Amino acid sequence: MEPSYSVFVSKDSFKFNAAHFQIYQGFRERLHGHNYRVGVRIEGKLGSDGYVLDFGDIKKAARLVCKQLNEKTIIPTANDCLEVSSSDGQISLVCQDGSRFSLPQDDCVLLPIAHSSAEELAEYVCGELIKSLKIPGRRQVCSIEVTVAEAPGQEAVCKIDL
Ligand code: ZN
Repeated sequence: MEPSYSVFVSKDSFKFNAAHFQIYQGFRERLHGHNYRVGVRIEGKLGSDGYVLDFGDIKKAARLVCKQLNEKTIIPTANDCLEVSSSDGQISLVCQDGSRFSLPQDDCVLLPIAHSSAEELAEYVCGELIKSLKIPGRRQVCSIEVTVAEAPGQEAVCKIDL
């Protein structure tokens, strides 16, 4: 039987504090924040060095994504109940229920997702890690799984097979 391998990394530094609100047809949450925590599991075959992937590379990539999201308001730009526009360094949001927000652009991160749910954030983080770790193509990685916790014991998981 051939053994299978994975590495799992979740460090105290894999965190971001961010504001968001969930919005979909007929519903909008009030703007609020979470102290998010991220975990990364990568499955694959061992390389000639005995690694699936170097822990150091994963830590660097995960910290970078967390840094991009930290102390920001997360704006999902692919949401059909939210109009997003920017001018003069301000982001304007018009919600389906008629409520409006105006925020400094530097305080926002615009993500190409439909909802800022933990599930879609996990998918976004997965995609960013695939890009920055340059997988596939490098090492024999077969899947990447990201967990995003909104609070302790409350997390979403997104797994992408490569
Ligand atoms: Zn929330």
